[in-house]
Amino acid sequence: MAATESSLSQTINDDLLIALEDGRVRAAYQPIVEVASGRVVAEEALARYIDRQGQVHPAFAFIEGAEQREIVHRIDHRLACDTIHRCSQQIAAGREPIAHFVNISANLLRHRDLVQDILDTAVTACTTCFPESIAEKPLVIEITERQLLDNIHETKKIMAPFLDFGLRLAIDDFGSGYSSLLYLADLPITFLKIEGELVRRAPYEAKVRAILKGVQDLAGELDLITIAEFVESEQVLDVVREIGVDWAQGYHFGRPEIPPERY
Ligand code: C2E
Ligand code: CA
Repeated sequence: MAATESSLSQTINDDLLIALEDGRVRAAYQPIVEVASGRVVAEEALARYIDRQGQVHPAFAFIEGAEQREIVHRIDHRLACDTIHRCSQQIAAGREPIAHFVNISANLLRHRDLVQDILDTAVTACTTCFPESIAEKPLVIEITERQLLDNIHETKKIMAPFLDFGLRLAIDDFGSGYSSLLYLADLPITFLKIEGELVRRAPYEAKVRAILKGVQDLAGELDLITIAEFVESEQVLDVVREIGVDWAQGYHFGRPEIPPERY
């Protein structure tokens, strides 16, 4: 076990596999809003662990530990399948279709059986959300720059079943660390999710606003949809709007919430 793992995340990780079996690993959904209209156009599924006392723990408390122990693919698979069922139920209830973002680890991409199971679940769970006739499916795969660049060639190859099926790709935490941008040229990316810390600092720092403008210009050139994370206030939203960011996510619009229904 890594020395960095805190005792809380160690306790959680010791229980994670059992929690997965017991249905105590759930998705919390956070809305994503179109800046121009204020309409909810998408949502992100975020993993939550519920301990034996019923207390809910956010992903940051256990995802890194789950990656180190190589069990994160099980969480990704669970959340993707739950989200497909949620999407299917919403369509069946006559709700306006939205995009459903799920976080995927490089670890999941190495488990071809689970990747195939997610695609099979999509085909069988929802013929209306995932019909062959519609090229663009509602499920969006979020992957971080770090995971892409650790293994760009393998990632591209293993990602192929998802992309061939018509799932779209979002780069998560864009601007959080890596300097190479070659993957923007190499992969069919649809969405850029702009790192939350940059967004949060934008109202107070001209340099940060200049960086965000640069990212927005680049995204415009590449025909990518931008999403600002950590939009926590009207003030941040105003700056994001002025820069021309397409969509926004953050506590200003709603916190991630576990729905009462099970999928
Ligand atoms: P992320 O994908 O960048 O997700 C955003 C994180 O910021 C989430 O924390 C979310 O709850 C939080 N957040 C949302 N809006 C705001 C805001 O306005 N202000 C602030 N300060 N925070 C906000 P969470 O849920 O703890 O997730 C942490 C990270 O864990 C995620 O970062 C993602 O990288 C990872 N993660 C979450 N769920 C999964 C999953 O199912 N699979 C994998 N592989 N990773 C996951
Ligand atoms: Ca994410």
